[in-house]
Amino acid sequence: MATRETVAIGEARRMQLALPWQASLWQQIVTQHDSGRLPHGVLLVGDAGLGKRCFAEALSQFLLCQYPDSGAACGKCKACELCMSGTHPDLYTLSPQEKSVVIKIDDLRAVLQSIQQTAQISGARVIMIEPAESMNLSSANALLKHLEEPGADTYFLLVSHRPGALPATVRSRCQRYTLGTPAQEEVIPWLAPLCGGKTAAVDLLRLTRGRPLAALAIAEQGGAETEQVLLEGFDKLLTGDITPSQLVGLLKGRSLESVVIRMLQYVEAHVSGSLPQIDGDPSKHAPALQFYSRLEQLHRRVSGGQNPNATLTLEDLSISLKEALGR
Ligand SMILES: [Zn+2]
Repeated sequence: MATRETVAIGEARRMQLALPWQASLWQQIVTQHDSGRLPHGVLLVGDAGLGKRCFAEALSQFLLCQYPDSGAACGKCKACELCMSGTHPDLYTLSPQEKSVVIKIDDLRAVLQSIQQTAQISGARVIMIEPAESMNLSSANALLKHLEEPGADTYFLLVSHRPGALPATVRSRCQRYTLGTPAQEEVIPWLAPLCGGKTAAVDLLRLTRGRPLAALAIAEQGGAETEQVLLEGFDKLLTGDITPSQLVGLLKGRSLESVVIRMLQYVEAHVSGSLPQIDGDPSKHAPALQFYSRLEQLHRRVSGGQNPNATLTLEDLSISLKEALGR
């Protein structure tokens, strides 16, 4: 199913552009490339939800394009077409497969073996590793030699939410580029048409601490009907009409981050008194406030790229929500 997020990213890719708030970083890299100073090891860092992968994909295509023009891929050559269809033979993408959280050493070795051969299309080769911290130590060690002595026109694009989790030896062999949280003005014109207007966009950016793709993902999962089902589910849990594991069933298919954000709003609404469950005695708020601060910590971890087991975490959250707010 094509979500709004994939459509939006797809549009950016078709136009061979980075996302609007990435323009200055893009320009910096293109300038380095055009003057022959782009390093072979590029480490792209920033919180999850800022569009790092989208940026790395646009950069891959730019590096592989046969006729780049004015600092962007042409979008028309054979290399561009193959990039856009995800079948360019000199573009390698390494990410954890299916439910695994690590990049398998065998997958990495196969790629490192392949890049010993001559490039098949335009001469350049790009190896994108995302998230780079999902390499274990043996994978990172296997990569080191290639970062030290990359073949001509070979680029390693390491995308990382948590660069501190990468071995220092890998970090020191790459140039680091940071995607920071963009200013709201740079994001709103892009986000508002995708999420139902400026007010919704501002609200989503506040909830996701300014991360545009996280905001879009929440908007995508939060159609009015789904939201209603979710809030009714929380209500039913508190009144004992459903069990915590039944609530987990209702949450299936939603990202952990979107559930955590909705729970934060729900607990906030209870504590601020806009819902009737809690009376005026402040001591009765204590469990809710403790749970709220736990949710905030979890939100920071998840938005920072950590990936706890979703089912176990949702079970735990459902039990804790009932304990914190239930009567
Ligand atoms: Zn092209």
